[in-house]
Amino acid sequence: MSEKTSGEELKEKLFNQKKNCWEDISENEGKQIFEYCKGYMEFLNKSKTEREIIKNATEIVKEKGFKEISEYENLQPGDKVYYINRGKNLFLAVIGEDKIENGVNIIGSHADSPRLDLKPNPLYEDKGFAYLKTHYYGGIKKYQWTAIPLAIHGVIAKTNGEKVEVTIGEDEEDPIFTITDLLPHLAQEQMQKKLKDGVEGEALNLLIGSIPYNDEKVQEKVKLNILNILNKKYGIVEKDFLSAEIELVPAFKCRSLGLDQSLVAGYGQDDKVSVYTSLTAILNVERPKTTAVCIFADKEEIGSMGNTGMESNVFTTFMSEILNKLNVNKPNLLDKVFCNSKMLSADVDAGFDPIYANVSELNNASFLNRGVGVCKYTGVAGKANGSDANAEFVAYVRNIFEKNDVKYQISELGRVDLGGGGTIAYILANKGVEVLDCGVPVLSMHAPYEVTSKYDIYQAYKGYEAFYKDN
Ligand code: MN
Ligand code: MN
Repeated sequence: MSEKTSGEELKEKLFNQKKNCWEDISENEGKQIFEYCKGYMEFLNKSKTEREIIKNATEIVKEKGFKEISEYENLQPGDKVYYINRGKNLFLAVIGEDKIENGVNIIGSHADSPRLDLKPNPLYEDKGFAYLKTHYYGGIKKYQWTAIPLAIHGVIAKTNGEKVEVTIGEDEEDPIFTITDLLPHLAQEQMQKKLKDGVEGEALNLLIGSIPYNDEKVQEKVKLNILNILNKKYGIVEKDFLSAEIELVPAFKCRSLGLDQSLVAGYGQDDKVSVYTSLTAILNVERPKTTAVCIFADKEEIGSMGNTGMESNVFTTFMSEILNKLNVNKPNLLDKVFCNSKMLSADVDAGFDPIYANVSELNNASFLNRGVGVCKYTGVAGKANGSDANAEFVAYVRNIFEKNDVKYQISELGRVDLGGGGTIAYILANKGVEVLDCGVPVLSMHAPYEVTSKYDIYQAYKGYEAFYKDN
């Protein structure tokens, strides 16, 4: 090997070198990454809705010794607690050695993903077909949801208090459903429309059957036959849809992508990739110095409102409960805890896509395979409504990542003035917490099939673990 020139040496020392990190890893690290992501893909296949995420995550934490907070009278360092908010939102904490008034370390992600919800009166028949009407949830490109296999997931709450859980389309033996699209031969008018108008919201109707009930005297025979099937299987009648939450999600499985299997393709990786990586990170935390807190929020995709969204007071109630059970609570203590706390807002990042290169500014885009993406600020136009992390806190997180050999990149979401977005970061930042956005870069974000890098997923996991432990 030839000696490095002084320029080469200087460049190595001074430049922020960016590269594809697979180049540097050992065979053993590669195996670890693939093994970890196998667990991730299995979790994703079982957890397509926020309710399923919360249910499966709760099962996992219970196995690892977490208990419902009400089971504790008093809390001690090392105790592990959870609180489930209406089956859609989960809080976890591992109590630290340090005084809680010095703050806690929070990682917060969201369990909801863009999808199609059923309307309250969904079922109708039209010219021999039975359909379910939908109302989309979150920021979707509507055309992406036609002509793909869809599965039905959700709950039907009956007036007698019974709750019927429904999952159809995941088992190989199950039927699937679809929303039809127009054949190209007759789509001249449709193809002239703007992409956003090509498929209208009211056209997102799910095809669910076509066999009529065999009785000449009744009208709407196909609808009747469908209701009869539902009644036999679930004991429900049409009115029970009025108090149901049924979500249509892609029926396909999460898979390794690429001949080298370096990537993951799957539905809902925004933000289930952050749920899984932060969940597995907190499972490694035993008796930390600083109390570790993990949040899986709901309703992020529609503005974090409501009693399961991050804007609700349920999280502060959970934190107050911890203060009560540590026997340290006093007026305004919780405010002080928040002002002394630190948080990673774990949400996916827009990965640079060479096919759509012109929406990014290359120096400040995050790339797949370069590690976990850190966004100092979000917002639109002149950073409006964004959460902008303080430089000192960014340095604090950088230091933790660098000490623990976590590969990261700092970027922003797309070119200036092209759009923008946000996460739950601002909600905690408004309470006084130091918050930094930090998550895995994604391609095709919000599409039925999103793409991430196994390398980045593993770095997020390592980074979140280090954030909890290294302080
Ligand atoms: Mn998100
Ligand atoms: Mn999103």
